[in-house]
Amino acid sequence: MCIMLIKPRYEPIELKLLRFLNMRMNLSPKEAGYLLNLEKGLEGESVFDKWLEGLSNSWLIMNDLLLEANNSTFQIDSIVISPDTIYLFEIKNYEGDFYIKDDKWFTISGKEIKNPLLQLKRAESLFRRLLQDLRFSFSIEGYVVFVNPNFFVYQAPLNLPFIFPNQIQRFIKNINLRSPKQTTKTTRFVEILSSVLLKENPYNNLPQYTYEQLQKGITCSRCYAFVTRINRDNLLCKKCRKTEKIESAVLQSIEEYQLLFPDKMITTNSIYEWCSIFESKKTIRRILRKHFLLMKHGQSAYFESPQDKGDI
Ligand SMILES: [Zn+2]
Repeated sequence: MCIMLIKPRYEPIELKLLRFLNMRMNLSPKEAGYLLNLEKGLEGESVFDKWLEGLSNSWLIMNDLLLEANNSTFQIDSIVISPDTIYLFEIKNYEGDFYIKDDKWFTISGKEIKNPLLQLKRAESLFRRLLQDLRFSFSIEGYVVFVNPNFFVYQAPLNLPFIFPNQIQRFIKNINLRSPKQTTKTTRFVEILSSVLLKENPYNNLPQYTYEQLQKGITCSRCYAFVTRINRDNLLCKKCRKTEKIESAVLQSIEEYQLLFPDKMITTNSIYEWCSIFESKKTIRRILRKHFLLMKHGQSAYFESPQDKGDI
């Protein structure tokens, strides 16, 4: 990769959590729809990230920004920075046919969706305000990028800041004709912007769930279906046929448990019950002892990951 990627894009923790919950409980249609949206969103953003890799290394790129200005929070999918201009991108992975009527957007079946232009305008104006507050001046060019080749919108006016799938390559080529020299201004800007980024709480929009309610077992790292044990050392996912070593699968399962229940202790018993595919606790105890620190507190004992210890 030759671009200067200041803030890469990670798989959102919220998405991970929802995938886990989707396997272990029944999501309502609304929650399942939200999960699907997150999946499609991330897929679309990854497509655009690949395009941005075509930029020369004189551009600075930051992804997935959660910011606040004028007492409102707003999110930006990607920004590309040069000393005079910041490009701001709202990425859409819409698929299928759409039409616009009186500034409103509809799917071909007539369901109204959020107007992406309004979303872009809102982010753009709040970002402008933020730059003012931070005392930086750049000109800002915002675009909605439609990355899905199976997307079409009827009656799209010509003068709107839209980049359609077959225009992305040309767009990248055009901005790449410029090779901006980054200055202390841009370095300082990146530093300051990084310091005001907000952190989203991934638990805010999750459905309610309890430990008791969730189905126990180890899930496949590829397709999230429940796996079965086939011999001493291996597990098999019957859905996608992936085999996995027991040790790495248990470690992943512990990670899942910790993400879903950050307040619960890791003990041999709790992980044994959570994985629920072992006859004895021996394997679990062995894995925990190998990878975690045994902590004793009065009568009780629990495990902590070595990384957690390092943070204290
Ligand atoms: Zn699988």
